[in-house]
Amino acid sequence: MSAPIVTPVPAAAFDVEAVRAQFPVLAQQIRGKHLVYLDSGASAQKPEVVVQAVADCYRGYYSNIHRGVHALSERSTTAFERAREQVARFVNAPSPREIVFLRSTTEAINLVANSFLEPQLGPDDEILVTEMEHHSNIVPWQLVADRYGAKVVAAPVTDRGELDLDGLTRLIHGRTKLVAVTHVSNVLGTINPIADIVRLAHAQGVPVLVDGAQGVPHLAVDVQALGCDFYAFSAHKVYGPSGVGALWARAELLAAMPPYQGGGGMIRRVSFSGTTFADPPERFEAGTPDVAGVIGFGAAVEWTRALGLDAIAAHEHELTQYAMARLADIPGLRLIGTAADKAGVVSFVMDGVHPHDIGTILDGEGVAVRVGHHCAQPLMERFAVPATARASFGVYNTSADVDALAAALDKVRHWFG
Ligand code: PLP
Repeated sequence: MSAPIVTPVPAAAFDVEAVRAQFPVLAQQIRGKHLVYLDSGASAQKPEVVVQAVADCYRGYYSNIHRGVHALSERSTTAFERAREQVARFVNAPSPREIVFLRSTTEAINLVANSFLEPQLGPDDEILVTEMEHHSNIVPWQLVADRYGAKVVAAPVTDRGELDLDGLTRLIHGRTKLVAVTHVSNVLGTINPIADIVRLAHAQGVPVLVDGAQGVPHLAVDVQALGCDFYAFSAHKVYGPSGVGALWARAELLAAMPPYQGGGGMIRRVSFSGTTFADPPERFEAGTPDVAGVIGFGAAVEWTRALGLDAIAAHEHELTQYAMARLADIPGLRLIGTAADKAGVVSFVMDGVHPHDIGTILDGEGVAVRVGHHCAQPLMERFAVPATARASFGVYNTSADVDALAAALDKVRHWFG
């Protein structure tokens, strides 16, 4: 058995029932009710083709990669490197050599913080983020900033949950070392105007990292068109395995970056008098990777690409608009995040009901949503709420799912009414 085969679904035929049929996990009952999965923002479910790609690897040709001369190692290496090509194509990277496989978005951002940023950081330097960042795009910068007397500053967010571009522009200056911004907010659903932000930052010679964790599942991402310098993303949010992610970075930036972690697979030659390092991307891939997971990642992005990112975006846009309209009709419910350009995420609070109680009652109706601070505590502070409830959509969601959510929220209102 060789590497995974992905069955493409023609973009013209986006058919949500056909899509759902590829996700066996969705066809189950929870507490006697049909499962309504509205938590794809935390992690998406996996289509059969991804499960199969991982299983095929383990059943048919699994081995460690790169250093083996035997047949299985060659086959695993070929499939692993093909995944690099698939992931590169998915974000329109100029070369697969600009894709570094890592554990997650989180690890990708930590790599940039420690390998790209740290060597150039000094006292009073600044890393500019925004108030809508996930902790993954705040804490890694704080950790390195603290070591050098530098600081992390945040561009403001408006009451609708849009980035205040004038506010952001005012915060870019001679001591700004990097702008790090999310493509899509995991709480507000706001789609940030990355190409504009990149133009503003580059005009002052400041590089830009994009946290693409919530970008890749919802939008057609073209890193060349965005013009950014780094783009970090995770497989598990784009229908792939968990524990696998990628960093895209410009070749010349990667080439100048020192290793972040040391170990096997990232060296050219090791001796006790000194060690030399492999070229990127291997320089940043120390240790045995999740071979089957990366192969599953490749299958996931191929599957998503074949489905058509524009068709996915259109489907999810329709669902989001429908959900916003349905939820706005529920007395005492307040939407958090009403940006004009919004993708697949609807956050809300209800008068007199703690979000955790909303989550528990919804679960009793078979509706899975996320409640809490969503790893965005500064944003909770900005909106003066301790937590929100969040419904997030994937390719498999339908307007019936939104109706089930609205009906379950009616029950919440009656319980607390
Ligand atoms: N950034 C955003 C916007 C996210 O939504 C998440 C996860 O929810 C992350 C970063 C972190 O992703 P991971 O846990 O896969 O590293």
